[in-house]
Amino acid sequence: MAVVPPEMLILRVAVAMPLMQLFDYLPPATPSTPALLPGMRVRVPFGRRHCVGMLLEMASQTHQNLTTLKPVECVLDTEPLLSALDLRFIRWAAHYYQQPVGEALFTALPVRLRDPLRDGLIQGVRLTPAGQALDLKTLNRAPRQRELLARLAQAPEGMTLDALKTGSGDVLRTLRSRGLVMDCRLPPSATVRGAETAAMPPVTFTATVDLNAAQSVAINAVMAVLGRFHSFLLDGVTGSGKTEVYIRLIAAVMATGGQALVIVPEIGLTPQLQARFTERLPGRVVVLHSALNACERERNWQQAASGNAALVLGTRSAVFVPLPRLGLICVDEEQDTSFKQQDGFRYSARDLAVRRAQLAGCPVILGSATPALETLHNARQARYGWLRLPQRAGLAQPPTIALLDIRDQPLQAGLSSVLRAGMRAEIAAGNQVLLFLNRRGYAPLLTCHHCGWIGDCPHCDARLTLHQRPPTLWCHHCGWSQPVPTGCPTCQGSDLRRLGQGTERLEEALRPLFPDATIARIDRDSTRRKGELARLFTAAQRGEIQILLGTQMLAKGHDFPGVTLVGILDLDHALYANDFRAPERIAQLIVQVAGRAGRAERPGRVVLQTRHPEHPLLQSLLRDGYAGFAATALDERRAAELPPFSHLALLRADAATEDAPLDFLREARRLAAEHDNTAIMLLGPAPAPMVRRAGRYRAQLLVQCRERLPLQHFLTRWTAALRTLPRPRGLHWSLDVDPQEMS
Ligand code: ADP
Ligand code: ZN
Ligand code: ZN
Repeated sequence: MAVVPPEMLILRVAVAMPLMQLFDYLPPATPSTPALLPGMRVRVPFGRRHCVGMLLEMASQTHQNLTTLKPVECVLDTEPLLSALDLRFIRWAAHYYQQPVGEALFTALPVRLRDPLRDGLIQGVRLTPAGQALDLKTLNRAPRQRELLARLAQAPEGMTLDALKTGSGDVLRTLRSRGLVMDCRLPPSATVRGAETAAMPPVTFTATVDLNAAQSVAINAVMAVLGRFHSFLLDGVTGSGKTEVYIRLIAAVMATGGQALVIVPEIGLTPQLQARFTERLPGRVVVLHSALNACERERNWQQAASGNAALVLGTRSAVFVPLPRLGLICVDEEQDTSFKQQDGFRYSARDLAVRRAQLAGCPVILGSATPALETLHNARQARYGWLRLPQRAGLAQPPTIALLDIRDQPLQAGLSSVLRAGMRAEIAAGNQVLLFLNRRGYAPLLTCHHCGWIGDCPHCDARLTLHQRPPTLWCHHCGWSQPVPTGCPTCQGSDLRRLGQGTERLEEALRPLFPDATIARIDRDSTRRKGELARLFTAAQRGEIQILLGTQMLAKGHDFPGVTLVGILDLDHALYANDFRAPERIAQLIVQVAGRAGRAERPGRVVLQTRHPEHPLLQSLLRDGYAGFAATALDERRAAELPPFSHLALLRADAATEDAPLDFLREARRLAAEHDNTAIMLLGPAPAPMVRRAGRYRAQLLVQCRERLPLQHFLTRWTAALRTLPRPRGLHWSLDVDPQEMS
C-alpha cells in the first residue's frame, strides 16, 4: 500500500467494462474546474484504449505502484451525474446481483452518456459578435429572425435548441449562414433553465371521480407514511381503480414538491396510461423507454435528474434514473416478467424499486391484479402493507370464467362449436370477441407425411415455425430462417403437412367462418410497422373490429370495453411445462386476458378450451379465483422448498462443444465445496432444458439456500473464485441471482 503525498489524491474509477474492480488514476494533468466529485464521468487510458469511467471514490492510498499510475485524460462533467445516494443504490445493486459495478453504473445512464468522446454538454446556439452588434430594427421585414435574435440576446451564454422551441429550424439555418448565430455547448443545467421558460401546461390536479371506500383506505394508508420507507402490495382486480390510487398519491407527493416514479412493463402497449397521467397531474411528466431515440432519452433523463420533471413514467431501467426529491415509487403489474433483465446486468426492477425506496426513505407500491407469489408471500408475512381493492370501480361487472372440455369435440379453426355459436351471438348483438392464442406464426410444425421429417433449427434444439407471409421457416429462439421447402429434404416426397395452429393460421381459418366480421390480428408480426399497434387498438375501441385475435400482447394493459366474450384457445401445453413457475404464469395470463373484457355496463364472459378440465390449477382458479390459486401454489412451493421459501441463483455456461460447459460447471461445483457452507445446496450441473441454442451448448448449476444472507456471502466468495478458474476458449458463464427463467 503506497501512501501518497498529502496534496495528491488517488481517483478510484469504475470503467464501463465487465470488470469487478475499481481502477486507480491520478487527477488530470491540468487541474479541472469545478473540483472533482464522485459521480462525475472521466475519460481514462485503459490498456491501449480510451474508455469512459465514473469517479466513485477519492483516496489517499493505493495498492498499485505510484509510478505506474496514469492521470485521467479529462473530466467529462461539470457536476456529478449521479448523487451519493444514486451511487450507493447502484453499487448495492451491482453487489447484490454479483455484477461488475462499471457495467451496472453505465446501464443506469442514457446511452449517449456512455460515449467516451462525448462530454456531458448539450448542443445549443448563441449569438456571434456580429449577431450581438446587429441592430434588430434592420430585420423588421423578417420578424421571425428578429424574434429569435431578440431571445438569444437575453441569454448571452446561449440557449439549448430545446429551449428555443424549434419549428424555427429554417430560421436558424438562415441566421447561421448569415454569421449571426453559432453553435455552442452548454452544461445540462442550461436545459433545465431553458425548459422552465418553456410553457408548462397549466394543469391543476382534478379529482374526477369520487373514491370508493377501498380506494380511500388504500390512499390513507400510504399517505400516513409519506416521507418514510414502507412497502405496499396494492392487490386489486383489473379495473378496480389502482391507477386512480397512484394518481391521487402522486398528486399529494407533487403538492409537497416531491417527485414520483412509476414503472410499468411496456409503455408501447398502454398509450392511454401516459395520457391519463399527463392530463390529470400538474407537474411535468416525462417518459423513459426503449422506443425513444437516444436524444429524447437523454433529455428526459436530464429532466428527471435536475428535479424538473415531477413524474417519470418508465420501463425497467427507469428504476435507476436519478430523482433528487423522490417521494413515491409505484410498480404497476409488478408480476410482469419484463421487469427482469435477462442478459448483461441481470436485475429485477421490481425488487430494486423496493430497495431504492428504502434508501430514499419513501413508500413503494407494488400493484397487480395477479401478484407474484413472492410479493403475496411478503404481504402475508406482513413485511408489506396489504391494500385490497376487491371490486371493479364504477359499474363494471367482473367477467365469469368457464372451462370448456373439448375432448372428442369437432374443432373448426381450433374453435369448438360452443365457442363458435357464442361468437356468432355476440357479434350479432353488436359486441366484440377476443380470441387468445399464445403462439405466433402459421403452424408450429412442418412435417413430411411420408417419412416423418420435421423442420428443425440447425442451430437449436427447437422446431422451426412456419410463417405464411412471407413464406418462411423461422426459429423463434435464434432468429434463423429459411425458405419453405417445396418437397421433403429427406425423401423428396411432396406431402408436407402443417401441424398445429398459430395466430396467422387462426386468422386465415376464421375468415370463411365469419365472412361478415372484421378481423384483426395483434401479435409481434402484425404490429412490426410503427404505429400499427396504436391503429389497431383505436379501431378496436371505435368498434370497427368484431373479432380481435392475438398473443399475450392482448393480455397486457390495454382495455377493450366492447369485448363481451373472450375465448382462450390452447393453454394445455403450458399446464405440463417443466418450469416450476409455469402454473403461476398461466394463472396470471388467464386472469389478465379475462380482465380485458366487459369493463363497461356489459359484463364479460371467458371461455377456456381445454382437454384437461380436471387439472387442479384450472379447478382452483375457477373455484377460488387468483387468490385461491395463489394460496394453493404457495403451499406447494413451501413443500418443495422453492421460492419464496428459499432463494436461488443459477450459474449458466455455454460453449461451442457439448462437454465444455458441463466440465466448467463441475469445476465450479468443486470450488463451491471448498467453501464448505452447509446452508448451500447445489443441484447439477445439468444440461439446460434447451441444450443447444444459436449453435451453442448450454448447461447450468443451480444454487439453493433457505436464507438470503448466507447465499449472498457464498455467491460473493464463489464468483470471485470462479473468475480465477481457467476457462476454455469461447466458454461463457454468467450468474443469475433470483432467476425467473430456469432455461
Ligand atoms: P386499474 O388500474 O385497477 O385497472 P383504473 O384506475 O384504470 O383501474 O380504473 C378503471 C376504470 O374505473 C377507469 O375508467 C377509472 O376512471 C374508473 N374509476 C376508478 N376509480 C373510480 C371510482 N372511485 N368511481 C368510479 N369510477 C372509477
Ligand atoms: Zn419425407
Ligand atoms: Zn434456432
